[in-house]
Amino acid sequence: MEFDLGKRYCYYFNEISKIPHGSRNEKAVSDYVCEFARKHGLPYKQDSVWNVTIDKPASPGYENSEPVILQAHMDMVCEKNNDVIHDFEKDPLDLYVEDGWLHARGTTLGADDGTGVAYMLAILEDDTLAHPSLECIFTTMEEIGLVGAGYLTKEDLHGHRYISLDGGGVSCTTTSSAGVSDVIISKKLQYESCKLPGYILTVKGLKGGHSGGEIHMERGNANVLAARILKEAQGNDLDITLCTLKGGMKMNAIPREAVFTFMSDSAAEAVKASVQASAEAIRRELLFSDPGVEVVLQETSEYTFRIQKEISDALLNCIYLMPNGFQHRSMVIDGLTVASLNLGVISVRDDTVRFEIMIRSAEDSARHDLSSRLVTLASLLDLDAEVPSGYAGWAYSENSRMREIYRAVCERNGLEYKERATHGGLECGIIKGLDPDMDIITFGPISEAIHSPDERLELQSFDDAYRILCEILKDCR
Ligand SMILES: [Zn+2]
Repeated sequence: MEFDLGKRYCYYFNEISKIPHGSRNEKAVSDYVCEFARKHGLPYKQDSVWNVTIDKPASPGYENSEPVILQAHMDMVCEKNNDVIHDFEKDPLDLYVEDGWLHARGTTLGADDGTGVAYMLAILEDDTLAHPSLECIFTTMEEIGLVGAGYLTKEDLHGHRYISLDGGGVSCTTTSSAGVSDVIISKKLQYESCKLPGYILTVKGLKGGHSGGEIHMERGNANVLAARILKEAQGNDLDITLCTLKGGMKMNAIPREAVFTFMSDSAAEAVKASVQASAEAIRRELLFSDPGVEVVLQETSEYTFRIQKEISDALLNCIYLMPNGFQHRSMVIDGLTVASLNLGVISVRDDTVRFEIMIRSAEDSARHDLSSRLVTLASLLDLDAEVPSGYAGWAYSENSRMREIYRAVCERNGLEYKERATHGGLECGIIKGLDPDMDIITFGPISEAIHSPDERLELQSFDDAYRILCEILKDCR
């Protein structure tokens, strides 16, 4: 299998790979797409964050058909092997083919989502194809939180039929994705000097994982476990007051490690016994999901201050009482989580403690319910809370004309049609949020090891998915 530049989608993929296009660095590729539109006499629009929309009129016979929106993101994840010299701001990718797969030497390939961009350019250019009027949307900064799509407005969408070209699998569509709310609970800390014995409590050895893909696996959250251990000690009538607390690295990762330091005027033996009993219970509970969990308690004389008692209690109570982890599953789609939240990061900076929580749900109402609970809890405990950002979810709908069309095309081509749903976030969710009537399918060629230097694109599927796309458009009468 060759990477045949005679095929226009291969040609455009190759052209794009010469233009650096990591997230936040899309201006050049965005300008390239605009230049393409000018050259082909197609109306286009470029917005303030370099999203581009190009329109193409219906082919003869399709003038009365509902328009179709095609969409792909222009940015790619920039990862390279340590031994490779590559400047993602300047250097073209070095493409090569091996055993029917396209690679980039030592770097990510950007098949995610350069293939979708290449498909749209090839379709816009080809006047022999049959299709309704098309609106092709090229977005930016998808890989860093669906940022570009967040700048689209309802007025940008001219139609209720939508094909996302950011899917994986020639005959597989996504049917649902999660919306996200970020919640920040914070508190300006007051300290008091104190000379009581100090302790360092470390919870570590947990598996962690992605808060979308792995939240249903009952893995321990280090932040939550550390607070529980100290609450249980308080429940045993022991004196516990926090000095510092920190855990986790990223909002969308289940925290693997947390370190809480505290002071106590209770007998050291009693403190140790309580922590040990909690640790043993946790080890038993997590035996099958997180067997590596470790709880370590060390004495320290390093601290000469502690957080004011009331604030310390409020922080522990907040972590202890807040809903966390898996919440709800779908009763339609087997194994799909429909609501979860993750206390991903606890940090202290400039004497202000921050809890960063990411809520996910395909149902926007469930997402708002969870964020409202967190805000309510924070206000009861005299902590500050805000919901600075978020985007909509794509809830599963039973009926979809686009899925019917897609299924028929797959079957006609002898392919097994499949559906899947994700608890991750997709640009489709933002689109659905702008237009709840949008009928969406997703698909694309097969690639592997995306977001890593081993990313590769199966060339046969690059041909097949293009053919399927053309047939779908033809059937969108
Ligand atoms: Zn992508």
